[in-house]
Amino acid sequence: MPKPIVAVVGRPNVGKSTLFNKLVGERIAIVEDTPGVTRDRIIADAEWQNHHFTLIDTGGIEPHTKDDILLQMRVQAEVAIDMADLIVLMVDGREGMTSSDLEVANMIRKHDKDVLLAVNKVDSRNLENNAYEFYNLGIGEPLAISAEQGLGLGDLLDEIINHVKRYYDEEETDDDRLKVAVIGKPNVGKSTLINKILGEERLIVSDIPGTTRDAVDTSVRYDGEDYVLIDTAGLRRKKKIYEDIERYSIVRAIAAVERSQVVLVLIDGSQGVTEQDAKIAGIAHNRSIPSIIIVNKWDAVEKDNKTMKKMEDDIRDALSFMDYAPIIFISAKTGQRLGKIFETIEFVKSQSAKRITTGKVNEALAEFVMMKQPPSKHGRRLKLYYASQVAINPPTFVVFVNDTTLVHFSYQRYLENKLRETFDFFGTPIRFFVRERK
Ligand code: GDP
Ligand code: GDP
Repeated sequence: MPKPIVAVVGRPNVGKSTLFNKLVGERIAIVEDTPGVTRDRIIADAEWQNHHFTLIDTGGIEPHTKDDILLQMRVQAEVAIDMADLIVLMVDGREGMTSSDLEVANMIRKHDKDVLLAVNKVDSRNLENNAYEFYNLGIGEPLAISAEQGLGLGDLLDEIINHVKRYYDEEETDDDRLKVAVIGKPNVGKSTLINKILGEERLIVSDIPGTTRDAVDTSVRYDGEDYVLIDTAGLRRKKKIYEDIERYSIVRAIAAVERSQVVLVLIDGSQGVTEQDAKIAGIAHNRSIPSIIIVNKWDAVEKDNKTMKKMEDDIRDALSFMDYAPIIFISAKTGQRLGKIFETIEFVKSQSAKRITTGKVNEALAEFVMMKQPPSKHGRRLKLYYASQVAINPPTFVVFVNDTTLVHFSYQRYLENKLRETFDFFGTPIRFFVRERK
């Protein structure tokens, strides 16, 4: 289920980052834990009384250019506003209302979104009167808080949950169309691909307006199957501005991936695979969603009989964490091999839904253990009692052992790889958990 997105917006120095860190606290979700991916705190999972939401901090972004901080702030805020289900407009109760606050408030008003007004730095009760002047922003009732002292945060969180509550009740039942996210760094050809798919005569297309996000999902039928292509069309209006902010393309990708069941990761074949491609692919991998790596613009590549193999090797190298993902080569421009995309989607979908009987899993496990003895520590040897596939989409296994501290990472890796090999899970991530049974 997609989590609601809450963005904290406001001019610099009002305390956005301080609030962000306070709310996310120790439980900070490292956004991407793929090796080589920088840890970034602009987006994190937050929770209040069993309600989860995604929090975006617009304060953690360094301006690209130093000359116009206000402009940068505006761009960042606009992106966040576009993405969010709820805006928390933050102002500084010690400084009082400024013209920049008004500017931000006006910008928010244009967007017809839910807004909460948080007056920060109200560090004590006798400062509460400072909050009233912010009624003049026309945003609504000011909530006095102190991010630093932790005052008023419970009330703020209550209000946040109140406003986003309806998103939790939203049902996505009786929709058995497969949700497919199309992600990739700017200019890889996402729009071209989607437009080309929509232009194909044998595809029946309709827009589904009114989804909770700004994205316009597109329904597509291919070979008798229905799909929903998820992209962030709502953001495309101001495409040029957004492209300047690399990190936001990550945030957009996360929002799309979290709603999807299969992810198409586009790579620009004319450029080759880059570090940013790895970052973006990591988003799907970290969430265990089956992905297909699509090398686009293959028409623009000068090829000989080694080019494709070389590109595959480069990709396997750069995206070594997701060696299970199929790679296909297309041209969104000419429409070459678009059918292959849907065939491959069907393939990874069925791989991800594969179920292995408990009998077979344990038979295999016994064999793995025989081929490679489990590690031991201080004279105590790891014992594997029993294993079972507990879920599909993606296939998820649990192994019961005598002592989890004896499970060395490399041995777990070994078991995972053997499982994958033995039961042919190519095309899907698998999850693997170890539990103790005394
Ligand atoms: P951002 O630019 O909006 O992200 O602002 P920061 O979170 O970086 O905070 C800017 C400054 O305000 C820092 O020096 C913080 O320590 C300070 N600050 C943040 N929250 C509070 C607060 O509740 N009370 C006071 N007195 N200072 C605060
Ligand atoms: P997006 O930012 O990922 O949505 O990328 P676009 O769809 O806007 O494409 C960026 C540029 O790449 C445009 O100039 C496209 O015409 C071009 N492009 C997209 N797909 C292909 C392709 O398959 N072959 C070639 N040669 N160019 C492409």
